Amino acid sequence: MDFQDYQGVWVFIEEKDGEIPSVSLELLGAGRKLADKRGVELAGILIGEDIKHLAQTVFEYGADTVYVYDQPIFKHYRTESFMKALLECSNKYKPEIILFGATSTGKDLASAVATDLPTGLTADTTELDVEEDTGLLLASRPAFGGNIMATILCKKYRPQMATVRAKVMKALPPQPGRTGKVIEEKVSLKEEDIRTKVLEIVKETTKKVRIDEADIIVAGGKGLGSAEGFQLVHQLANALGGTVGASRDVVEAGWIEHGHQVGQTGVTVTPKIYIAIGISGAIQHIVGMKNSGLIIAINKDSEAPIFDSCHYGIVGDAFEIVPVLIEQFTQA
Ligand code: FAD
Repeated sequence: MDFQDYQGVWVFIEEKDGEIPSVSLELLGAGRKLADKRGVELAGILIGEDIKHLAQTVFEYGADTVYVYDQPIFKHYRTESFMKALLECSNKYKPEIILFGATSTGKDLASAVATDLPTGLTADTTELDVEEDTGLLLASRPAFGGNIMATILCKKYRPQMATVRAKVMKALPPQPGRTGKVIEEKVSLKEEDIRTKVLEIVKETTKKVRIDEADIIVAGGKGLGSAEGFQLVHQLANALGGTVGASRDVVEAGWIEHGHQVGQTGVTVTPKIYIAIGISGAIQHIVGMKNSGLIIAINKDSEAPIFDSCHYGIVGDAFEIVPVLIEQFTQA
C-alpha cells in the first residue's frame, strides 16, 4: 500500500436533534493537533438530512474542510447507508486518519467501515498522538483490566482509525466566523437497497442520564449494602444538585442502570467534584474518574485503595456520615 496517497485527518461529526454533540467538538480539537503536527488539513465529515448548515460549527471548532452528505436517505442513522457514504468518501479522498466518538453510533460505524476498507481500528482510545515524519497514529487505551496503557499502531494499512472516549479530549475555543471549504457529495442509494428500516422512534421517558456532562457526581458502591442503602447516594446527589454514579458491582446488583456506571466498562467522567461512597477503588473504577477536579472518598476501611486516588478521604460508616451531609447541604 502506498501511504503517500493518504493525507489529512478526518473527524466523523455526529448530529443529534439538529446539534453537534460535544464529543465531536472534542475530536475536532484532538484532530487539529494531529493535523498541525503532520502539516496536513483537518476535515469533518457530516452525514444526515438537513445538516449542511452545521458545517459552519465544524469550521469554528477547527476544521479546514467539511465533506457533506445531505440526503433524505440519511434522515436516521443506519449502519449500511452511513457506511456506504464514509467508504466512498474515504476511497475517493484518502485520509490518513479517521476519528470517531466512542458512542453507540461511532463504535458501530467505525467497526463496519474498518472491516470493509479493510484497516485497523483502535477502540475506546484515551490518548492520541502522531509521529510527525511517518504519520503513524499512536492511539493509547487502558488494557489488561486498566493495569497498563497500550499504544496501538496500524502499520500496514491506511486510513488509521480510532474511536475516542467522550470527555478525554478538549474542544478548542470556537472561532466565530471561521470558515473553510465545503465539499458536497452524494451517494446513489435507494431506500430498497437498505435492509434496516426505522419503524418508530421511542423517546426515553425517564430523565436522561448525562453523567459524562455533570459537574458534580455522587457515586455509590457495594458498601451501601442494598438498593435501599443506595438511596442515600440519590439523596446526597439531589441535595448537591449533582448526578448519580455507581460502581460496576452496583449496576450488576441491579440497584441502578448501566448508564450510571463509571469506569473502564462504563463512562469516563471528569466532573468538578466526585464523591465516592462505599467504593473500594478498583483500578477499573479509578480509570473512569481519576481526572475529576476534586475527589472525596467515604469508606469505612482506612486501607481501601480509593484513598490513594482521592484529594480528601473520610474514614467512617457511610450510614452515619452521609445523612449528616444531606442535612447540612439541604439546609445550605
Ligand atoms: P467493593 O469492592 O465490594 O467495595 C465496597 C467498599 O465499600 C469497600 O471498600 C468497603 O470497605 C466499603 N464499605 C462497606 N461498608 C461500608 C459502609 N457502611 N460505609 C462506608 N464504606 C463501606 N468496576 C467499576 O466500578 N467500573 C467499571 O467500569 C468496571 N469495569 C470492569 C472491567 C473488568 C474487565 C473487570 C474485571 C472489572 C471491572 N470492574 C469495574 C469491577 C471492579 O474490579 C470492582 O469489582 C468494582 O469496582 C468493585 O465495586 P465496589 O467498589 O462497589 O465494591
